[in-house]
This record gives sequence, C-alpha cells and structure tokens, in this order.
Amino acid sequence: MAKYKNYVVAQSLEEAYALNAKKSSVIVAGNMWLRMCGLNKQTAIDLSALGLDRIEETEDAFVIGSMAVLRSLETHEALNAAFGGVFRDALAPIVGTQFRNTATVGGSVYSRFGFSDVSALLLALHAQVLLYKRGAVSLSDYQKETWDRDIITHIRIPKGQRAAVRSVRVSETDIPVLVCAASVSGEGLRLVLGARPARAQIVAEHLAPDCGEETFEEIAAKTAFGGNLRASEAYRRKIAPVLMMRAAKACREVAQK
Ligand SMILES: Cc1cc2nc3c(=O)[nH]c(=O)nc-3n(C[C@H](O)[C@H](O)[C@H](O)COP(=O)(O)OP(=O)(O)OC[C@H]3O[C@@H](n4cnc5c(N)ncnc54)[C@H](O)[C@@H]3O)c2cc1C
Repeated sequence: MAKYKNYVVAQSLEEAYALNAKKSSVIVAGNMWLRMCGLNKQTAIDLSALGLDRIEETEDAFVIGSMAVLRSLETHEALNAAFGGVFRDALAPIVGTQFRNTATVGGSVYSRFGFSDVSALLLALHAQVLLYKRGAVSLSDYQKETWDRDIITHIRIPKGQRAAVRSVRVSETDIPVLVCAASVSGEGLRLVLGARPARAQIVAEHLAPDCGEETFEEIAAKTAFGGNLRASEAYRRKIAPVLMMRAAKACREVAQK
C-alpha cells in the first residue's frame, strides 16, 4: 500500500511541476500502479483539476490529455474512426472495464512498462509526448529515456494512419506474453513489438504494407527477446513472426476500408 502525508490537488501545471521537483513528492494519476508500490511519500500531487482528461481533435492530429483514462480512448468514436477502431480493440484486453475507467494514458506512457499494450500502440502511431517543460518529444525517444520529473500534459497522434494490434496472453486479462502493433501511413508499414519482455520498440519501419512472410522471420531473427515467468525467450521468438504477420494483415484490411 502507498502512504502519502499530504494530498495536493494542483491548481496549475507550474504548481504541480514545482511540487514534483522534490523527490519526496509523486504525481498520482489513476493510482492503479502506484497503490501497489508500497511508496511512502510526503506529497501526492493530483492533476485532476487541470482539464487534462480531454481528447481533442485538430485538423491534423488527436491530442489526448495525460489524465484521460484508457476507457475513454477505447470508447471515443472519432478517435476510433480515425485509426480504424484500434483503440477499442487494443485496450479491451487490459484487465477489466473498471480498471480501464481509472488507469490513465499519462501513467502508462510515463511508466514505460515492458508489458505495455498502450505504449506499443502509441509507438506504432508515431505519437509525441508533450511535456510541461521540455515540450514535444517523440515517444520513440521518450521510451529510451529514464524516468525524470517533468509532467506529461498530452499525447499527440498525427492523423492519416491506420493501425492494428495483436497480442498473446496466457489467460484473458493477464499482461501480454507478446504484443505487436502495426501501422500503415504515408511512410509505409511500421511494426512495434512489446512485452518481449522489455519496453516496446520499433522493430521495422518504411516496409511495403504487403511484405511477405520472410520479412517477418528476418525481423524476428534480428530482435532481442527474453524469458520470464510467462514465456521463454524461444517461445516469444517463435510466435513473433506470426503475430507480426497477423497485425500487418489486420492493418492492411482496415487501411483499405
Ligand atoms: C494489475 C495491473 C495489470 C496491468 N495490465 C496491463 C496490461 O495488460 N496492459 C497494459 O498496457 N497495461 C497494464 N497495466 C498498466 C496500466 O494500464 C497503467 O499503465 C498503470 O496502471 C499506470 O497508470 P495509472 O493511471 O494507474 O498511473 P499511476 O499508478 O497513478 O502512476 C504511475 C506512474 O506514472 C507517473 N505519472 C502519472 N501521470 C503522470 C504525468 N502526467 N506526468 C508524469 N508522470 C506521471 C506517476 O508519478 C507514477 O510514477 C496494468 C497495471 C496493473 C496495476
């Protein structure tokens, strides 16, 4: 269980940032992960009064507030229409509806969990992370960094692409054994593998959307996999080409609609 001495509902991003500069403080978003961490902190910072739970559509992008819960992405009609229904399909396997009504996109992106379906999908979709002090950073760079004390305000996803996600789970609602997110944009097919079990990573891009089976075998041969309680390194390596092939095929199909 996590313990906090003070609970502050921040009234501005500047206030939240100043409080979060201290190591004794922590931002609490959905609290679904943090509550299990046994933290003992002086100050919990709540961002819920800052209007960061909105999903906004601009001419060329969707801009999602960091406090938007996973369920709001899953059920957002315009967001799903723009990207081929991928948020509905990719987020539904995460634990359960009540959970997704609480866990946030900002908490997912900041945490950079090695098992994250969310990061894999956003990485395939060329997402940018908008940080209060540093400004826009590509998710692909953010994924490689260590945890800092800046605040994620939004996630920006450019329009003009379609995506599909396929994952393998030992049982429904468990974290994935392997996840593949594929997107097709003007830059061609991008493939992301997550739960290898390591942070989601772009394993191929600029591919022809209809590339053949041997391409997926070659990508898997060049990718690092590992073993853990859920599956061995060999098992992940074996299923990776099939998962990539299925995600790419599903992505082609939604792109043609
Ligand atoms: C039991 C369980 C099963 C899960 N299964 C899956 C799964 O199958 N697939 C999947 O993709 N994910 C899964 N997750 C992860 C989940 O989807 C969320 O990523 C996770 O709960 C964190 O989101 P949160 O809103 O609860 O963040 P919190 O727990 O509140 O915070 C997590 C971290 O992010 C930081 N943080 C939060 N918001 C910001 C911000 N705006 N700026 C900077 N830092 C911030 C916090 O300080 C903290 O360090 C699982 C989590 C749990 C607990």
